[in-house]
Amino acid sequence: MNTRSDVVIVGARAAGAATALLLARLGHDVVVLDRAVFPADTLSTHQIARTGVVQLHRWGLLDAVLGTGAPAIRRVSFTAGGETVTRAVKDKAGVDLLVAPRRQVLDTLLAEAAARAGARIRFGVTATGLRRDGTGRVVAVTGHDGRGDPVRYDGRFVVGADGLRSMVAREAGAAVVEEHAAGGAAQYAYYDGVPWDGIELIIADRALTGVFPTHDGAACVWICGPSGDAHRARRARPTRAEAFTAYLRRTAPELARRLEHGRRVSPVTGMLRTPNVRRAAHGPGWALVGDAAYHRDAVTGLGISDAYRDAELLAAALDAALRGTTDERAALAGYRHRHELALRELFDLTLALAAYPPVPRFVELQKRLAVAIDTAAADLLTLSQ
Ligand SMILES: Cc1cc2nc3c(=O)[nH]c(=O)nc-3n(C[C@H](O)[C@H](O)[C@H](O)COP(=O)(O)OP(=O)(O)OC[C@H]3O[C@@H](n4cnc5c(N)ncnc54)[C@H](O)[C@@H]3O)c2cc1C
Repeated sequence: MNTRSDVVIVGARAAGAATALLLARLGHDVVVLDRAVFPADTLSTHQIARTGVVQLHRWGLLDAVLGTGAPAIRRVSFTAGGETVTRAVKDKAGVDLLVAPRRQVLDTLLAEAAARAGARIRFGVTATGLRRDGTGRVVAVTGHDGRGDPVRYDGRFVVGADGLRSMVAREAGAAVVEEHAAGGAAQYAYYDGVPWDGIELIIADRALTGVFPTHDGAACVWICGPSGDAHRARRARPTRAEAFTAYLRRTAPELARRLEHGRRVSPVTGMLRTPNVRRAAHGPGWALVGDAAYHRDAVTGLGISDAYRDAELLAAALDAALRGTTDERAALAGYRHRHELALRELFDLTLALAAYPPVPRFVELQKRLAVAIDTAAADLLTLSQ
């Protein structure tokens, strides 16, 4: 099978579905390939920062997300040194709530919105390679469909929205332009049977523990900390679940006690040695977006929001290049420049937090993070749609 479009996107989650939605709304012919068949979960917790909520609101999807039963979160509590401060979520950048929908719900909703806008979504298609023309420009994606039959999708542009281990980045030869220690870990599980009152963040020595309510009365309970600590906690107990409970008793003892009255309704899962890496985000005929271009530790919970922001920056650049209003190289260089500017402060704060400094410094960094997210959320309102 061989089809041709303006843009072929590999990956249909946060970055891919958002890029497709925006390009399709701008009138471009877009095809999106994903080896998964949605609805499908992925390895990730899913607290969306204000920046991501602002994007969902701007794109007209926030009400639909809340309509799936993901609770509107209106309070956030911070605990450090035994003291808890609870704050209402302020009305800023046009949103007065946060939300944490399960990924199988959120990503499906976004992919469906992209399809309604005219994007063709092809689930069960695994992309395995790129094709180039005589000048070296990437012109197509090859792979196989769910039956194993070969497929080829030609496009004026190929976008890799295929996550941390991006095939498009690898095959395009996208250089790593920035890399830092991969020292952090994030583990999580879902619990129900306990009343939740918004997001909870508990800061302890070498750990940030959190709770956010999600669908069906459940909450995601997570611990971020150095990989060495997570590894030691795991080795000290016979099962991953027992290790998580014991780790939680150290990092958030009051929460651990409350959870004794609830029920764990999922296995414990997570990621060790989380990469902090940026890749060159474009070349002739190709571009990267989302985790494929930039991956950071989960301690700041920004991946989905970053993907939404960069989808918008990339869609604007590809739109200009496809219409011919801007030279392609200038348009993609503009994308890279805006992406680098937008991520810098938040990436630096993520790296500093993922080093787990002493609690007072960690608290100070968290405060700076909150201000930086609010500034970034306000900046999103200046993007044209
Ligand atoms: C433990 C953990 C906790 C996290 N917690 C949060 C959080 O609370 N909040 C937050 O905002 N972010 C969080 N993140 C980060 C967030 O999950 C990512 O940043 C986000 O998913 C990036 O979206 P993406 O679309 O770029 O990539 P992905 O979500 O990785 O999607 C890539 C898609 O590409 C598809 N794909 C890959 N290769 C191919 C191929 N060859 N052919 C076809 N399809 C392909 C995959 O099937 C997948 O659907 C967390 C991450 C981890 C690991």
